[in-house]
Amino acid sequence: MKILVVGGAGYIGSVTVEQLLAAGHQVVVYDNLLKGHRESVPEAATFVEGDMGDAAALDKLFGQHTFDAVMHFAALSLVGESVTQPDKYFKNNVSNGLVLLDAMGRAGIKKFVFSSTAAVYGEPTEWPIHEDFPHNPTNPYGESKLAFEKVLKWYENAYGLRYATLRYFNAAGATGCCGEDHDPETHLIPLILQVAQGKRDAISMFGDDYPTPDGTCVRDYIHVVDLADAHVRALSILGERSGTFNLGNGTGFSVKQVVEAARKVTGHPIPAKVAPRRAGDPAVLVASSARIREQLGWEPKYPDVETIIADAWRWHQAHPQGYHASAHV
Ligand code: UDP
Repeated sequence: MKILVVGGAGYIGSVTVEQLLAAGHQVVVYDNLLKGHRESVPEAATFVEGDMGDAAALDKLFGQHTFDAVMHFAALSLVGESVTQPDKYFKNNVSNGLVLLDAMGRAGIKKFVFSSTAAVYGEPTEWPIHEDFPHNPTNPYGESKLAFEKVLKWYENAYGLRYATLRYFNAAGATGCCGEDHDPETHLIPLILQVAQGKRDAISMFGDDYPTPDGTCVRDYIHVVDLADAHVRALSILGERSGTFNLGNGTGFSVKQVVEAARKVTGHPIPAKVAPRRAGDPAVLVASSARIREQLGWEPKYPDVETIIADAWRWHQAHPQGYHASAHV
């Protein structure tokens, strides 16, 4: 298939591009490089710099290529930032997403894979979380993703769009080529690894008074390679139907447990201190991925949190300045 990957120069997008190419698909990456890295795009993919909100640029792109499907990774995804700047999140994640969908409609493209999030569930009271649990986001990031999920449902109803919505839990890890390089970095595992690299003195653990066994937040960390694999598999259903799937390992790790695992992996003492809670953080997010296992035959290959951290650590050691001054190999 020929696939357009919007946001394909970002962390999860770039790993998915690697896997699409390995599976024999043709890939065009469209990315505005505000968050993405040109160096993360493999030679074998065509790269086009552009913004998801630019309808004319998308029409031009769709005039130049005939795509079988579009994958959309081009969202803003920081919980804390979304609380203080909700306008940015609704503009990018909803309005600009609509520009993409409508350009796809003009070009007659009906297959779409959408990166959604566990943040659509808000504060669940039971775990693991199933796809049909109540959707009550506790932050504008989750709300913007949920709004777009609803758009997809109604576009299917009216225009025959077929979508696979993948609700990610906590992506982490790396491949040999592609890893996590955000500026500013806000995610737990890369920040912990910055401590091990001597770039910061300690990791701040946001809150130790949550209703969890050790008081710190519990998350379901999933290897980015396993996430990417789900996207490639999702393409297979889009000829017939749409679907919404959780993507996690089904095991929760607290912030303290992740710090401890990173100490083991890196051999660094990684000093940790308790800091105030971060706005918008639910206490526990752990997935049931039963649906995607049953319907797409997906199975995580790297469910072990130490393996996930070790792969991230290898990438950060090989790229101490992130992608800066490094080329894709
Ligand atoms: N976290 C933390 N210290 C940090 C960054 C994150 O304690 O410096 C916590 C955060 O509050 C959450 C978990 O680590 O409970 C995972 O956060 P991250 O930002 O990596 O992912 P999110 O869950 O927001 O998608």
